[in-house]
Amino acid sequence: MDNTEKSAVSGAARSKASTCDSCTDSSCSAAKRQLNETDQDFQERRALQARLCRIDHKIMVMSGKGGVGKSTVAVNLAMGLMLAGKKVGLLDVDIHGPSVPTMLGLEGATIDQGPEGLLPVELGNLKVMSMGFLLRNPDDAVIWRGPVKGGVIKQFLKDVAWGDLDYLIIDAPPGTGDEPLSVCQLINPIDGAVVVTTPQRVAAMDVRKSITFCAQVGMKVLGVVENMSGFVCPKCGEVTHILRSGGGKRMADDMGVPFLGSIPIDPSVAEAGDMGQAFVLHHASSPTAVLMRSVIAPLLDLPAPAPQA
Ligand code: ADP
Repeated sequence: MDNTEKSAVSGAARSKASTCDSCTDSSCSAAKRQLNETDQDFQERRALQARLCRIDHKIMVMSGKGGVGKSTVAVNLAMGLMLAGKKVGLLDVDIHGPSVPTMLGLEGATIDQGPEGLLPVELGNLKVMSMGFLLRNPDDAVIWRGPVKGGVIKQFLKDVAWGDLDYLIIDAPPGTGDEPLSVCQLINPIDGAVVVTTPQRVAAMDVRKSITFCAQVGMKVLGVVENMSGFVCPKCGEVTHILRSGGGKRMADDMGVPFLGSIPIDPSVAEAGDMGQAFVLHHASSPTAVLMRSVIAPLLDLPAPAPQA
């Protein structure tokens, strides 16, 4: 079965579950009220589940530390899936440092209310939601503690009119704090995490913590991406390994998780990010974009969710 056929099958399954009221899946966790759950909590959980049921695959992009290119990977992953013909959502839950609006040239975009909820910003078949769209001034600092952040992430999932999607990519802040924990608690089931690291041992050591986090919360690691792996000379295209290379692959092998591939340091990637252009779209034929697409390829083969009764 090719990807188009898989999409058609999953789309058929999805349309049955667009509301909890019309769904007959008695095994769904939102089918029954839980012990000690208030009516309001139950209704909220059903509303959340109804949104999530319409999304085939949910993938969180994580990293052990900041600056390793996690948002760059998340943006290009979402855009790459869109270019492969998928309907994609990109949710930036980096509440304190949202960079997705800048990387996609969406700074200044605002969110409107539609009949089915908050309307995400659309770029072709890509729907984007970020804390950055809700700040009046890009220099505003968000000073919130864990429970408030969890509430906002819940709203991003439950109150945004995501519609029918093939993939929702969630860009989490670095580390294993409140935001990634909220995402795994709210999205159940979640397909898993893509973990981004750089080749140096220090970064790979931090990313081990992300993998341990995934094991502790019962989330699958879909794979590790080694970003900034070698430097692509802008003049001749030769790749020089200015940082120790291979740390990501070694660590993935050691921890028994898949390795999705390496992306070099390419000055055009940084430039595209600063200019608000998704690299895989605007530099589609460059060798770095080819590598980015090969990292994405296994995610196109994720099995479709089981059809609901
Ligand atoms: P993180 O989300 O991990 O904090 P970002 O994605 O914001 O990291 O990337 C940090 C900086 O590094 C950005 O300026 C980005 O454009 C740049 N960058 C990321 N990956 C690459 C790469 N492969 N080559 C060149 N620059 C990169």
